[in-house]
Amino acid sequence: MTDASDDTAIDRNELAEFMAYLERRNAGEREFLQAAREIAAAVLPFTREHPEYRDARILERLMEPDRIITFRVCWERDDGGVEINRAWRVQLSGALGPYKGGLRFHPSVNASILKFLALEQSLKNSLTGLPLGAGKGGADFDPKGRSDREVMRFCQSLMTELARHIGPDTDVPAGDIGVGTREIGYLFGHYRRQKNAFEGALTGKGLAFGGSPIRREATGWGCIYFLEEMLEAHDRGLDGLRVAISGAGNVALYAAEKALERGATVLTLSDSGGAIHDPEGLTTEKLREIMALKFERRGRLREYADKHSGVEFREKSNPWGVEVDVALPCATQNELDRASAERLIRGGVFAVCEGANMPCTAGAVDALRDANVLFAPGKAANAGGVAISGVEQTQNATRMPWSAERVNEQLREIMQSIHRKCVDAYDEPKGKVNDYVRGANIAGFRRVADAMLAYGVV
Ligand code: NDP
Repeated sequence: MTDASDDTAIDRNELAEFMAYLERRNAGEREFLQAAREIAAAVLPFTREHPEYRDARILERLMEPDRIITFRVCWERDDGGVEINRAWRVQLSGALGPYKGGLRFHPSVNASILKFLALEQSLKNSLTGLPLGAGKGGADFDPKGRSDREVMRFCQSLMTELARHIGPDTDVPAGDIGVGTREIGYLFGHYRRQKNAFEGALTGKGLAFGGSPIRREATGWGCIYFLEEMLEAHDRGLDGLRVAISGAGNVALYAAEKALERGATVLTLSDSGGAIHDPEGLTTEKLREIMALKFERRGRLREYADKHSGVEFREKSNPWGVEVDVALPCATQNELDRASAERLIRGGVFAVCEGANMPCTAGAVDALRDANVLFAPGKAANAGGVAISGVEQTQNATRMPWSAERVNEQLREIMQSIHRKCVDAYDEPKGKVNDYVRGANIAGFRRVADAMLAYGVV
């Protein structure tokens, strides 16, 4: 037996033991355990070389949230009927700053999904280099088909409870799936009223009331900035490449916007109804139309396909069957599985960059790695959103708004520095593309771990 296989065997035992411990404590929490396994697989070998983290059980402590708040949200429909939802705020780690992470409104929301998102957030926020702790929250509320007034009543009822747990120095939520500018407006309006204080306790606010320029665009644009760095490091450029994007929300549409600006051809988008494929590629005008459809009218991509001959609509399907050079999953977790990854590989894909959080299953990531496809994990590639939320907090704290140019420059710099940190943290042997999964997890872990070590056992 060679030394290398000995090492692998030790890794496997150690990982299995660690996962058995986590499974006992978090039984049935599929998404949380999936995210934890990826992190542990990268970080355990690193802590073997740095026993100070292992002796203080830093990884185990990071995976146990500081606290989870669960509460009931009752609200009235327009017809007077009473609805009951459940909401959560997972305050995972305050080691690097006030808890920070979005709120998600979607019927699938549960404790496992929010814990996985908060865990990802901890290493992502660390990678930004900003003073941001990690949290995530949300409710099993479905805003689809609800009137504005119903959404307002829901947000107000939720904030009645949430307000006592958040604040600019405690916990600063933002948006996520189902929580956009409208919802943040209702949430912030009610927070301000209850606290009688105008303070930056939420980010993603409207520009009229303390929001930052470029916050809406930041995650999608940042994802393209990261992709450009990754391509450049491997002697490629984005100009002229064919790109498949999933999702048609905040992240997907601004990623499409920046990709078009950089000369790429965007062939697909998707929503929960299905995927569109435009063989000629989106233009800026077409994208504007889709943004108006999704952001202003809350419509479906099917309506867009019905109006445009030549645009194919694939009902209840994803975009991964289209031949492309680059794939950007920007909708939701586990939307790109091993079979989809294999289809993309057969179609010649050479880079996959996660705009969403954990959109690729573990099997998909393995298949991409085995095929030597460049792969950027969400915790690195989609960190632009939270980075600019951090910049929004700075503007609120100093009561001094920044220009769009300055914010964009900061976004660009942060994405470049995250790319550098990933590469510096883990150098792949020659002949293989960089392993950004290992790099992002190790670099993200190291900063949180150093803070936790400094605090002693707390
Ligand atoms: P949005 O709600 O704006 O958009 C989500 C898009 O994905 C919508 O088009 C939605 O379809 C589609 N979608 C959502 N769930 C499903 C599903 N189960 N199956 C198929 N399609 C689905 O959310 P965001 O763009 O803000 O977030 C997208 C992803 O990016 C999430 O993973 C989020 O955690 C992550 N992220 C977001 C950040 C941000 O700043 N907003 C920051 C970092 C990560 P439909 O239009 O039909 O609702």
